[in-house]
Amino acid sequence: MRLFKGDIIHTKTPNQFEVFEDGYILEDNGIVVEVGFELDKKYPIVKIIDHTGRLLLPSFVDLHTHAVQYANLGLGLDEELLSWLEIYTFKEEAKFSDISYAKKVFSYLLDDIVKAGTTRVVFFGSIHEEATELLIEMSIAKGIGAYIGKVNMDRNAPDSLLEDSDNSVAITKRLLRVGNDKVKSIITPRFAPSCSEKLMRELGELEDKLEVQTHISENRDEIKWIEELFPDAKSYLDVYLKNGLISNRTILAHAIFSTKEELSVIKEKGAFIAHCPSANVNLTSGVMDAKFYLDQGINLGLGTDVGAGDSLSIRKNIVLAIQMSKINHIISNEKKILSFSEAFYLATKRGGSYFGKVGSFEKGYKLDMLVIERDKLADIKDFSLVEKLQRFIYSGNDEMILERYCEGVKLFFY
Ligand SMILES: [Zn+2]
Repeated sequence: MRLFKGDIIHTKTPNQFEVFEDGYILEDNGIVVEVGFELDKKYPIVKIIDHTGRLLLPSFVDLHTHAVQYANLGLGLDEELLSWLEIYTFKEEAKFSDISYAKKVFSYLLDDIVKAGTTRVVFFGSIHEEATELLIEMSIAKGIGAYIGKVNMDRNAPDSLLEDSDNSVAITKRLLRVGNDKVKSIITPRFAPSCSEKLMRELGELEDKLEVQTHISENRDEIKWIEELFPDAKSYLDVYLKNGLISNRTILAHAIFSTKEELSVIKEKGAFIAHCPSANVNLTSGVMDAKFYLDQGINLGLGTDVGAGDSLSIRKNIVLAIQMSKINHIISNEKKILSFSEAFYLATKRGGSYFGKVGSFEKGYKLDMLVIERDKLADIKDFSLVEKLQRFIYSGNDEMILERYCEGVKLFFY
């Protein structure tokens, strides 16, 4: 057992922080045993790790990012989604047939994710079996928790990225058996325009309570394209629904333009939506009404969506999610603002629930934690714990993160 002492802050519920100034977290084997002010005497003598004066907070969860686009970070963001895919994304993804190139990109990527304070992530890979398996192995070695998807696509992409649909399903099936408790495969049809009905149907039949991720309603031209490609479908969501791809283990990236009817089905199914504010503004896609989605009780988390997103930092995406909800409110008075605690909750406990008991310090939760250095200005000014967290999230940097833990295991980067 270990006892971490420090200034503890987390969100059990969206609208308020729970804080323990000079508190403790008692951990056993990666799981929180107790959090509070005074340790119950029933516990044996434990190893004390003293972070007095430092913030202890749940580490970040990234529900949507593309491992194979890391080398494109920041490039080509004058384009919109469909042209950006053609000009930048597909060319870069084709390079992952070269395993040595894949290894170089993934080692920078995993270091930078850990550095940014993210310890759980859901990755899109590429169509390549070997590179996807390598990312699974490298993520296990890094100590993060991850779901990693070999992308499936058999149409509307350059020849170098097109798969035979039977082969695509067979590789996916094999990779679903690779990994361990912390790092697993996830079924990953890129998005409906890239997949034939046959491919989606066969992937849906594979599902059997397994994880699925895809994109939906990111851009208006994309939605028009769906109407042309699937004239019989009632909606974009309906394309995935009728192919058995929507459940409470599905992550839908974006869903900016999903209709109220679609959102109510997403809610009813318990599917997750990954809100990716940086990517949405960079590709001029749209502004999600995140507060409305949260209030509807949808399983909403945050995603960096690199390379459309320009940073691996969930911290920056928390700020942007709030700012974009304010822009929504400025433009349209009836749209409500996402509060600081709500955005932090999305980035930790709500997104973390995809991984089980992750993103909070409540009893029984996995100890995923960041240790943040003491604020320099704390010498001259008193800050509450919430204010210290605000300073770290809004105006801090990754260098302020002194330690990172995933399920009690300390993570490192180079
Ligand atoms: Zn994406």
